[in-house]
Amino acid sequence: MEKVKITIIGAGVVGLAIATRLASRFGHELLVVERHEGFGRETSSRNSEVVHAGIYYPPGSLKAKLCVQGRRQLYELCREQGIPCRQLGKLIVAVTTGEEEQLEINLAQGRENGVEDLELITARRCRELEPVVNAQAALFSPSTGIIDSHSLMRFYYQQAKSRGATFAFNTEVNDVEPAAKGYLLTTAPDSFRFSSAMVINCAGLGAADVSRKTGISTPPVHYAKGCYFSYTGTSPVKHLVYPVPPAGGHGLGIHATLDLGGRLRFGPDLEYLEKPDYLVDNARKELFCRAVKRYLPDLDENRLEPEMAGIRPRLQGPEDEWKDFIIREEKEAGFPGFFNLLGIESPGLTAAPAIADQVAALVENS
Ligand SMILES: Cc1cc2nc3c(=O)[nH]c(=O)nc-3n(C[C@H](O)[C@H](O)[C@H](O)COP(=O)(O)OP(=O)(O)OC[C@H]3O[C@@H](n4cnc5c(N)ncnc54)[C@H](O)[C@@H]3O)c2cc1C
Repeated sequence: MEKVKITIIGAGVVGLAIATRLASRFGHELLVVERHEGFGRETSSRNSEVVHAGIYYPPGSLKAKLCVQGRRQLYELCREQGIPCRQLGKLIVAVTTGEEEQLEINLAQGRENGVEDLELITARRCRELEPVVNAQAALFSPSTGIIDSHSLMRFYYQQAKSRGATFAFNTEVNDVEPAAKGYLLTTAPDSFRFSSAMVINCAGLGAADVSRKTGISTPPVHYAKGCYFSYTGTSPVKHLVYPVPPAGGHGLGIHATLDLGGRLRFGPDLEYLEKPDYLVDNARKELFCRAVKRYLPDLDENRLEPEMAGIRPRLQGPEDEWKDFIIREEKEAGFPGFFNLLGIESPGLTAAPAIADQVAALVENS
């Protein structure tokens, strides 16, 4: 039977970052298994591509720590490797007095998380930066930016391969059994079996399923869809523009993001699903227009078209409190050498290099 040292399940941005990180040490002993024909075909290519500063997450949480650390690492990597990104800056805009108070809380939390360059700005300053935006006040985050996530993933993929990692595409892990020295994995469609001393489960939307099949008691991971509408024509804004986030940690609110070509889109909203589907229903346009017009009152609705959707693997259900990423070795549950990454929703793209460091440290100490 074939034997490998480490199997990484899932070639999204997180699996690729981990593969790159671990390939320096484990090279040819590292296998990445991915169910699609190439890397990054699920959530990692269906998101806002925003490099988050680290404002929204409770101090001390993994999301806060790994976002701030990952953002610094990403910008450095982009500079060194010529991966396209732009530090455009972002405005979180308050349109009511209550929201202005919320901005103060976001400011304090962001600073506590290590986001040092945040600035509360007046309506006037906001108008200077973005003349068409309606705001009573705003939180300006200069270090928020955008990145070409595909170029980032291509870089990681090539780097991991050049360090000796093997990629098995079109291969789905459909069973993992604990064995004497590690785990026995079975893949579909070929029912191929091989053994792996360690398993890193970063299968995104499939991670909870893989974890349960291994026999690990796993919290529910919900499918939380986010749709986008694109805007036709020249963007009326130059920065990323976000509303004050809804209470309870349910997303960041429908925001205006730009891509590296300067194209504007709005999204994502938040809708819990029983099973994944990527359809963007034009009926949601009304909801989008209502949300966007709070901060862009002159929005021309005729320019909005349904674009695409992504699905967050969320630990937080519709009625739940805020939940952090889970990144752990399942040693205490009786599964040493099995590393679970669950609920890697936003800011997972930003945090990817820091998540890779965190997993590398867990592997080192295993
Ligand atoms: C709408 C939306 C907007 C977002 N915006 C941002 C943002 O602006 N900034 C940010 O930092 N983050 C953002 N995120 C979060 C970010 O996109 C994710 O955290 C990140 O892409 C997760 O990467 P991943 O590798 O964990 O998951 P994925 O990209 O989903 O990769 C997991 C891989 O595992 C594979 N897989 C699953 N099951 C199996 C199996 N059994 N066998 C083999 N392979 C399997 C899948 O095919 C997939 O390729 C957003 C997410 C969404 C949904």
